[in-house]
Amino acid sequence: MSNKYALKPDELKKEFEQKKPRLLKGEFGGKDWWDLPVEFRDGNWCFPAKPEVLDELHFANPRKWAATDKDWQLPAGWEKTIRDGMKDRLKRFRSFKVFMDSCVRCGACADKCHFFLGTGDPKNMPVLRAELVRSVYRNDFTGLAKILKDFSGSRTLTQDVIKEWHMYFHQCTECRRCSVFCPMGIDTAEITMMVRELLNLIGVNNNWILAPVANCNRTGNHLGIEPHTFEQNIMSLVDDIEDVTGVKVNPTFNRKGAEILFITPSGDVFADPGVYTMMGYLLLFHHIGLDYTISTYASEGGNFGMFTSNEMMKKINAKMYHEAKRLGVKWILGGECGHMWRVVHQYMNTMNGPADFLKEPVSPITGTKFTNAKTTKMVHIAEFTADLIKHGKLKLDPTRNDHLRTTFHDSCNVARGMGMFEEPRYVLNKVCNVFHEMPENTIKEQTFCCGSGSGLNAEEFMDTRMRGGFPRASAVAHVREKHKVDSLVTICAIDRASLPALMRYWNPGVTVYGLHELVGNALIMQGEKKRTEDLRENPMAGFGEGDDDE
Ligand code: SF4
Ligand code: SF4
Repeated sequence: MSNKYALKPDELKKEFEQKKPRLLKGEFGGKDWWDLPVEFRDGNWCFPAKPEVLDELHFANPRKWAATDKDWQLPAGWEKTIRDGMKDRLKRFRSFKVFMDSCVRCGACADKCHFFLGTGDPKNMPVLRAELVRSVYRNDFTGLAKILKDFSGSRTLTQDVIKEWHMYFHQCTECRRCSVFCPMGIDTAEITMMVRELLNLIGVNNNWILAPVANCNRTGNHLGIEPHTFEQNIMSLVDDIEDVTGVKVNPTFNRKGAEILFITPSGDVFADPGVYTMMGYLLLFHHIGLDYTISTYASEGGNFGMFTSNEMMKKINAKMYHEAKRLGVKWILGGECGHMWRVVHQYMNTMNGPADFLKEPVSPITGTKFTNAKTTKMVHIAEFTADLIKHGKLKLDPTRNDHLRTTFHDSCNVARGMGMFEEPRYVLNKVCNVFHEMPENTIKEQTFCCGSGSGLNAEEFMDTRMRGGFPRASAVAHVREKHKVDSLVTICAIDRASLPALMRYWNPGVTVYGLHELVGNALIMQGEKKRTEDLRENPMAGFGEGDDDE
């Protein structure tokens, strides 16, 4: 794979063997960790938000700048803005204060972060990442600096500190793997969320996060697609489905009085390979005769507000519920997404909920009550489909996925954010015959991040992404070597966007799939033509070149 923002794998190997200091080997060139310089270079920083994006969002300090600039053109009085912002957040978010105070430096989290494992940079140990902000907290918000002087581990807020925050709180994907191992329950992801909020107050930001936020704010989805184009794109997928299966599915849009509103990440509507997952949903809904509609206004399940600020997360989340109310549906069915579900599962109820104007979700096909969604009124597609299969409501032919040898990547936000481990595996094992788990300490609650989550999937960030994704890629390599796995299945739109690049880099030949794409392959549809190709128009087993036709 070639990309001007990433070393080639063999160059990375050479760096490991030769270059000094060898961070990858845990050697810091005789320096203490806090003296290691912050060096922005090609591949390790994301382009800042464009001035027009900030103007649109009414965010602070629109200007043209780059992380490699000496002077970041911070606004006058920026120190006070950060201190006041911290003070306000320490008061409003008790978790932030607890996380600042309660680390006992046991080190249990130190080697749990994929960015530390992939870069060897000590500031990527979760404990030290948090220390970058704790040191300022100690200086400005506790008496420790005065009492303990040099021993307090405190420091003054300077532009260099801001540069360090920008680098290391954008080398955290808010994945929460470290929190699983912390005996004090410290969630470094929430510290990262707070620091990114603070940085946004002075215009230190990332275009790959804020451009989608602005688009979502304006049109309802990350890509800024207008309603008519959104609908047209789905209708072109309807044509593709007919070409492959001979079945014409019939989604409806903005239909008042439908029983269910279906919301998925816009990546499923526009991006390869997400579109195949969308085709799978459409086939499934047609197969069971679901009374559903798709909104061209709440046309995004993802919520990049989560990587920006609590206020923005709340605003973007609200759109889905307003639309459900306007259309008069009973409940919401949500597609395969990571951070959408973290927001719904962990934050929605206190931000915008409970959604009492909707009904407690009940599957119209099986009668199952989703009591876990009693307050959010939103059901995950994996549990919805698992329930359908459990009740024998789907006609499936898993041999239609016999051309694939699969493993499953647990998406951080769905696995650790909502504890969903078994439902996708249950579905996957019913729709395909070859499935192998990656090693135990890399799946389910301990899953490794793709390395590009939380809005870091930018092209120009490729070097850090490929290093940060190395632990996940290694686990895939393991099942590839042992079981000849060639297909990585996932239930997150960011994973579907980021893992293909990671696989091309570390595991060429491994292809990324959404779970419902495989469901769509396996469904035996009424009135279908003879199925010889999967939804990507690749030949199914027995129908390829040289295979004997049945
Ligand atoms: S939340 Fe994830 S990315 Fe962030 S420090 Fe913890 S393990 Fe690393
Ligand atoms: S595991 Fe928790 S308490 Fe221990 S060093 Fe890490 S953040 Fe601190």
